[in-house]
Amino acid sequence: MLSTAEMRVSSGKRTQFISITRQIVELVTRNGWQDGILTVYVPHTTAAVTINENADPDVARDMEWFSDELIPRSRHFRHGEGNSDAHIKASFFGSSLQVIVREGKLWLGTWQGIYFCEFDGPRERKVYVAFTG
Ligand code: ZN
Repeated sequence: MLSTAEMRVSSGKRTQFISITRQIVELVTRNGWQDGILTVYVPHTTAAVTINENADPDVARDMEWFSDELIPRSRHFRHGEGNSDAHIKASFFGSSLQVIVREGKLWLGTWQGIYFCEFDGPRERKVYVAFTG
């Protein structure tokens, strides 16, 4: 059976990796989701989601910095909105991910956390979450 929920995320910078692990844990607890697969989905074309290290915040800072180094904003892109770099970064990281839920808990590795990846902020964003149990 499928259950769904929607979350809000506000970014404060143009490129920003925001940990949403706690919000997702709260959502799982609030909905009483026990055993199944959780899909985290971003309905935007200039944002993404990823799982990475949650222990040292410098890892997320390095990913922000390197994303901008690798795909700079000021290339001669054709797209008139001027945010092609953000579209490319969003596709590189991907618009969804899955996490296993066991006995009401996210089955993540010790150092893992879930990040919302903002590439064209600051903005108010949505994250869709679906649980299949
Ligand atoms: Zn655009």
